[in-house]
Amino acid sequence: MKVISTINELQSTLKSLSLSPVGFVPTMGALHEGHLSLVRTAAEQSPVVVVSIFVNPTQFNDKNDLKNYPRDIAKDLGLLKNILRENDIVFTPSVEEIYPVEDKRVFSFGNLDLVMEAKHRPGHFNGVGQVVSRLFDIVKPDLAIFGLKDFQQLAVIKELVRQTGDKVKIIPHPIIREKDGLAMSSRNMLLEPEIRMNAPLIYKTIKQASLMIRENDIPEIQLMVKRNIENLENFELIYFEIVDDTELKPVENRAEMIAGEKYYGCIAVKAGKIRLIDNIEIGLV
Ligand code: AMP
Repeated sequence: MKVISTINELQSTLKSLSLSPVGFVPTMGALHEGHLSLVRTAAEQSPVVVVSIFVNPTQFNDKNDLKNYPRDIAKDLGLLKNILRENDIVFTPSVEEIYPVEDKRVFSFGNLDLVMEAKHRPGHFNGVGQVVSRLFDIVKPDLAIFGLKDFQQLAVIKELVRQTGDKVKIIPHPIIREKDGLAMSSRNMLLEPEIRMNAPLIYKTIKQASLMIRENDIPEIQLMVKRNIENLENFELIYFEIVDDTELKPVENRAEMIAGEKYYGCIAVKAGKIRLIDNIEIGLV
């Protein structure tokens, strides 16, 4: 694999390789098996894969979160070396390379700007829009893989691509979990041991919610989720919403749900000082 940190070198390398389709996996590093699974999928589908490692400052509404975000580029490269092939590229740009001047673009993602993560992290998806559109312009991928772990982000990116008319194909990837069910996340390593021990209850709870929908209405399910999570010391429920697949409009009552349609139960939890998100498909069968 090649490790490249400038746009010029990245573009000239891709040009001289002249391989297609170009597969792309954008990440913020601190890689785990979730990321690596996306990379393997990209490699199965493309003769050349670009993996970017860039902690994007514009998507952090909380500056402390940006400061504390885990970074270990040497370890990341070691993990990628086991998967990537000779022609694949790890792109590790600096902030100045991505934003030579301040990015003042303002995106509008409709309802996606109003719910869940958007409500609690103002400006977050605008930053995601900035970095992903910038990276797409630089890499010019034919396909890009994004994890369903960040369910709302995936919807935002599909909307971004729809708005820009970019030809890139967005491929969703299932959530990769630890053995105990906790969704893998770079932030998991920041959890205090006791919090980490209790964190699998997040997935257990949304799994329970997905079963309860057969016989219970949504307010009861939301109550169960809140009780379950807040029974744990130092855990706080930020939200649990059941939303439709595309616009992510919250469904308030079971009667609004249509059999055969896809819905997702999306949760955000403050676990100690760390914010964790997860989601599960929920449907009337
Ligand atoms: P991040 O480094 O957190 O920005 O994540 C980079 C990509 O990896 C995004 O598309 C995420 O949705 C995806 N990702 C992160 N964790 C997981 C996971 N546990 N399972 C599947 N995809 C993931």
